[in-house]
Amino acid sequence: MDYLKSLNEPQYEGVVNTDGPTMIIAGAGSGKTRVLTYRIAYLMEKKGVDPFNILSLTFTNKAAKEMRDRIEKVVGTDARNLWMGTFHSVFARILRSEADRLGYPSNFTIYDADDAKQLIKSIVKEMNLDDKVYKPNVVLNRISGAKNRLISWREYIKNPIYRADDESNMKPELGRIYKTYSERCFKAGAMDFDDLLFNTNVLFKEHLDVLNKYQQRFHYVMVDEFQDTNISQYLITKKLSAVRQNICVVGDDAQSIYAFRGADIQNILNFEKDYPDLRVIKLEQNYRSTKNIVNAANSIISRNRAQLKKDVWTANDSGTLIELLRATSDNEEGKLVASSIFEEKMQNHLKNSDFAILYRTNSQSRAMEEALRRMNIKYKIVGGLSFYQRKEIKDLMAYLRYSINHNDEQSLRRIINYPKRGIGDSSLDKIIVAANENNIGLWDVLTNISSYMPGRVANAVMDFVTLIKRFKIDIEKKDAFEAANLIAKGSGILKTLYEDKTVEGLSRYENVQELLNAVKEFVDDPDKEDKSLGSFLQEIALITGVDNDKDDDDDKVTMMTIHMAKGLEFKNVYIVGMEEDLFPSQMMLSSRADLEEERRLFYVAITRAEHKLYLSYALSRYRFGRLKNCEPSRFIDEIDPSFIKVSKRHSKVESRPSSEGNGDFAKSFVSGIKRTTSSQPLTRKSNYKAPVDFKPSDTSTLKTGMKVEHPKFGFGKVVEMDESGANRKATVNFDDFGEKTLLLSFAKLRIH
Ligand code: ATP
Ligand code: MG
Repeated sequence: MDYLKSLNEPQYEGVVNTDGPTMIIAGAGSGKTRVLTYRIAYLMEKKGVDPFNILSLTFTNKAAKEMRDRIEKVVGTDARNLWMGTFHSVFARILRSEADRLGYPSNFTIYDADDAKQLIKSIVKEMNLDDKVYKPNVVLNRISGAKNRLISWREYIKNPIYRADDESNMKPELGRIYKTYSERCFKAGAMDFDDLLFNTNVLFKEHLDVLNKYQQRFHYVMVDEFQDTNISQYLITKKLSAVRQNICVVGDDAQSIYAFRGADIQNILNFEKDYPDLRVIKLEQNYRSTKNIVNAANSIISRNRAQLKKDVWTANDSGTLIELLRATSDNEEGKLVASSIFEEKMQNHLKNSDFAILYRTNSQSRAMEEALRRMNIKYKIVGGLSFYQRKEIKDLMAYLRYSINHNDEQSLRRIINYPKRGIGDSSLDKIIVAANENNIGLWDVLTNISSYMPGRVANAVMDFVTLIKRFKIDIEKKDAFEAANLIAKGSGILKTLYEDKTVEGLSRYENVQELLNAVKEFVDDPDKEDKSLGSFLQEIALITGVDNDKDDDDDKVTMMTIHMAKGLEFKNVYIVGMEEDLFPSQMMLSSRADLEEERRLFYVAITRAEHKLYLSYALSRYRFGRLKNCEPSRFIDEIDPSFIKVSKRHSKVESRPSSEGNGDFAKSFVSGIKRTTSSQPLTRKSNYKAPVDFKPSDTSTLKTGMKVEHPKFGFGKVVEMDESGANRKATVNFDDFGEKTLLLSFAKLRIH
């Protein structure tokens, strides 16, 4: 019972009080995940609960695996029978066994974001709508938002409140697209990610016997990272635990960073209302980080108005101060970070895997990568373009998917003419139209092709059908690995790639082999109950960015976005690109709520560090193809200055004391930077004062070359207009402040 001794008092309470509703709201690094892990071990070991009756929902599948490994150390291999994973993977599994209730085949396909966007694209085209107005990304986001709030297409079309936003944004056809999209997915026997949750809700609402079955099955339900669940997820957990009420959720409101995907902090507040007997446990001792890091994080988050009160403290050492690194450019920033890692490794005998580089957006990885490569420091990027998103992998996967589910429209699109067999786009479109008009499946059209299409193409289709039928038999008769191998060969994919003798061709060939290796590993894995190809495909479809980390054990520096880093910890952390408009992101400056979400994101980033934290920024950076001057992030100024110091590597830029007479340390070099980094005299010291009667003009006629006035930045000239996106932007070169890009929807500009 050693593990119980490694808990403090409130953690112990959280572990042993297993019955009734419990909510643990606690600061970063205070042991929330640890409590959940040991609670499950305790349930099994001490209370004799069958692992089949325990459901634990985590943020990534990797987190679930780590939890399971820890539990296994306490209770043995029985831990493998626990129900654990992300919401999506657990409920995909349940949907697979109950699919017929919803009219779906049990081998339904899971569409990833790319499949979904392609389908929307073709629907927009078929409807003759403008694809600049109905951009696949935007449409998918709106549909996803509706599904996550459990609004079906029928309700969306019926209720003007749901449509209002889209109608005022000149997208009146969204409802029709939503409807067609849903019908097409259904007909294709496919669900997108949001459907996995949406349909689980439908299943539990409309089939009470099914709900009852799972209520009886799951005696204990647990949710980690509860602050990032959406309404759809909340309702699922609530329903599942409605009978026994043994539900335990853990989370930290200060780390809620997925509002843009529909996560709702209200879930924490509602929880108290929904469960009047709720046991609330607070954990306030941080075990992860030094005092400096914990206190710096507290000083940041205390600026947010919307938060539950917590006093996070630590008994750990003070540690070293947070170091600030300034670079002249993004490339130099990469070099500074790489050489700092190199030196830290040498001096403190650290491994590559003790380091993480965190950034706001994926594109920032490039400069870092180059610098690390030059210094021969091994790294891995978590959550970039994943292995499974590569074309050759998606092509083979499409063959596998299609051989299992003959109505999967997106897979058919990929493979019907790859490798080339003379069935062009227009023939495929005809096939899809025929299926829709006759209200039959795609396969019904294909197997009956001569009634729909003339000779030459029809012959090619018949050959294709024969091929797919053969693959289906292979899948039924052979194990998943043999079947996948036969399909890779039989489809002609291996041959086509092999014949392409370029370097890229070779690497694509190797990637396909690597996918076959993955199937082999899956087949050989004793933990896998269902070794069918269908089950392999489902697992792959549900891999998230963090899970996709193929080389787990290697000693590499980890690079990832802050969103991906949730729940993780590293000895040394570098948060790079600490610049205005980048972090906080320009897109998040329009409301207090958005800015507070960015600040929580910064809080998450800081609290990943155990021993040492670096913040770096560049004075200039290429963004959207242009070199821009950058200003240090306001978040640097927000850290209490007693926890931060300037690094000795700090790029030597001529500096001077703050012109504002403000003793604040970070600010004093903010002003120094500005004067020296541009051909313009960039200084915050400006003689400009906005007139009291300042009135912004209507900027709809704004053009390049116009002279404007801004209440803070004074006079300037418009050097560029960006009319392309949903948000109109103007880049203005201000006399005293240099270039700034402003969102015209809320920048106050007077045209002169
Ligand atoms: P996050 O908010 O980042 O998800 P968390 O609250 O889930 O953090 P854990 O990851 O569970 O925190 O714990 C943080 C670190 O502190 C881990 O390394 C964990 O092993 C350690 N830890 C937690 N509780 C204790 C304890 N009582 N004694 C020693 N170490 C502990
Ligand atoms: Mg955690």
